[in-house]
Amino acid sequence: MRLQNRIALITGAGKGIGLAIAKMFAKEGATCILTDIDESLGTLAASELGTPHCFQYLDVSIESDWKRVIEYTLKSFGRLDILVNNAGITGLEKGFGPQDPEHLSLEEWRKIHAINSDGVFLGCKHAISAMKQRRSGSIINISSRSGLVGIPEASAYAASKAAVRNHTKSVALYAQKQGYKIRANSLHPATILTPLWDSMLGTGKEREKNLQELTSHIPMKKMGTPEDVAFAAVYLASDEAKYVTGIELTIDGGILAAAGASPKKMKE
Ligand code: NAD
Repeated sequence: MRLQNRIALITGAGKGIGLAIAKMFAKEGATCILTDIDESLGTLAASELGTPHCFQYLDVSIESDWKRVIEYTLKSFGRLDILVNNAGITGLEKGFGPQDPEHLSLEEWRKIHAINSDGVFLGCKHAISAMKQRRSGSIINISSRSGLVGIPEASAYAASKAAVRNHTKSVALYAQKQGYKIRANSLHPATILTPLWDSMLGTGKEREKNLQELTSHIPMKKMGTPEDVAFAAVYLASDEAKYVTGIELTIDGGILAAAGASPKKMKE
């Protein structure tokens, strides 16, 4: 029960990493406000967790949604202890055009940033206001390995996640400077098997082939699970991380430990 009596708000909690975080937080004693734009998935997830957990509709790119949900949280539970800014899109979903720096449209660049970076900015802004009167607060922003390296085929996604990484550090420093006991940290997952990968992997035999190809480039030779990210979120949300703010924690099967063109001794 590492999060006993904590009130936690998680965005994009209807499925994937957000859902795994909500489930693990609940197991650790937190009361979870699951939020998403997918009402049916979110409602189902919250009802499976049972009382006192609940679902609230929240589109992270809409400021009035944030105001309403934070107000609801304070009114219903008295405070907010943990915010996980998890909701995000890759822009590789069906219906999007190319995302390389030459052909990406300004409209799609803005659409991806509206959710991934504006959404995190708004979450931090309203959580700081809600948390600052309390003893403590923990903000966990889900960035990506794509926030640390360039991704030519998903350049808007990568730029939006880089913004999340950097903004987290500004939030962390700002909070300390103001004397607020609010910590902010970013998580940088990669290749975590969730519905986010469906549009990239395909189905049936093609999916198997694509999975094999993808995992062959991961040092651990396998995809991660949503729970791998949830364990890290529990740590950052808990008092075990009370001296930890402004960090970036990668959960990537070793991907970012590698470098191309590395030195190698020739056969003698
Ligand atoms: P997912 O697609 O499985 O789930 C994303 C959830 O976010 C969905 O429930 C969706 O309805 C919700 N969502 C989308 N737009 C929203 C909006 N405007 N407002 C509120 N909710 C919205 O994705 P996932 O794999 O669970 O990813 C979660 C986070 O982790 C994302 O920010 C993603 O970029 C990041 N991430 C994932 C991976 C991975 O390999 N899965 C790797 C790096 C980073």
